[in-house]
Amino acid sequence: MPKMRAVQVSRPKAPFEIVEREIPEPGPGSVRIKVQACGVCHSDTLTKEGAFPLVQYPRVPGHEVVGVVDALGSGVGRWAPGQRVGVGWHGGNCGYCDACRRGDFFVCQTFTAITGITYDGGYAEYMIARAESLALVPNELSPVEAAPLMCAGITTFNCLRNSGARPGELVAVLGLGGLGHLAVQFAAKGGFRTVAIARGKDKEPLARKLGARNYIDSQTQDPAAELKKLGGAKVILATVTNGDAMSAAVGGLGTNGTFMVIGAAPSLTVSPLQLLGGRQSVKGWYSGTSIDSQDTLDFSVLAGVRSMNEVFPLERVDEAYERMLSGKARFRVVLTMGG
Ligand SMILES: [Zn+2]
Ligand SMILES: [Zn+2]
Repeated sequence: MPKMRAVQVSRPKAPFEIVEREIPEPGPGSVRIKVQACGVCHSDTLTKEGAFPLVQYPRVPGHEVVGVVDALGSGVGRWAPGQRVGVGWHGGNCGYCDACRRGDFFVCQTFTAITGITYDGGYAEYMIARAESLALVPNELSPVEAAPLMCAGITTFNCLRNSGARPGELVAVLGLGGLGHLAVQFAAKGGFRTVAIARGKDKEPLARKLGARNYIDSQTQDPAAELKKLGGAKVILATVTNGDAMSAAVGGLGTNGTFMVIGAAPSLTVSPLQLLGGRQSVKGWYSGTSIDSQDTLDFSVLAGVRSMNEVFPLERVDEAYERMLSGKARFRVVLTMGG
């Protein structure tokens, strides 16, 4: 049997193991992907550290996967070997439960398919993916360019386009890390008056290069007051995971403004009086499904949005993961499979 290299976690908090496995065969409704690149996302800690109840071990992490369709299982139309595809967090859905029939595929009631969590992901030379989880990758994007767009990209782009903000309106991006550096680009290229909020004056040149018209240094300035001076934000896209940083910015919403939460902070303080007085809202956003990923990739080509990446070969997975955890990577970490 032909073999492949894969990185697996054999139990919660166990070290990564590079193992040889048989190349898997796709079952009905699934395809096999020859993986070319896979992003290392902070949510991979759910598999690595065992912080998610649905993980069964051993498990191969990775939900920012880009590769080439290599074999088809039975019953898969439309897709063909040789097509370039990506797979994100959303690993599939049944299509017939109540939620799916309402179009809410992300809360499918039949099964929870999460790439790299409930089935093996992209830290491997091959993986199996359900056909409905595939996004077509445009030729203009290399595997390394496309991979981070499958989670960090779709999350920020899809959140922004569903936020209710219209071109020309004030959109603030809170945080300038893996998510934030993409959100600023998507907001600027989407035609919004884009404000970046981050810690320290040193990030201002980058924020402006990415398209921000204004920069607020949250260490020396009050983000809420500064946003108010600019007229108040229609949308604040909160990419940080720090609840205090979120709470300090939420007061910068304008009338009918929406605070869109995509960073998993433990808690957030907001004044009900402010919300009702300004008819404002706080809303969470789930990344999206495969067609949202495909739209993210297409928009990125159209508008020239690119993730800034640090690239490691698969065998240096420990280093890559530590780099991601350190928070010092500029800005996303991507594994490549070689060959
Ligand atoms: Zn992710
Ligand atoms: Zn369903």
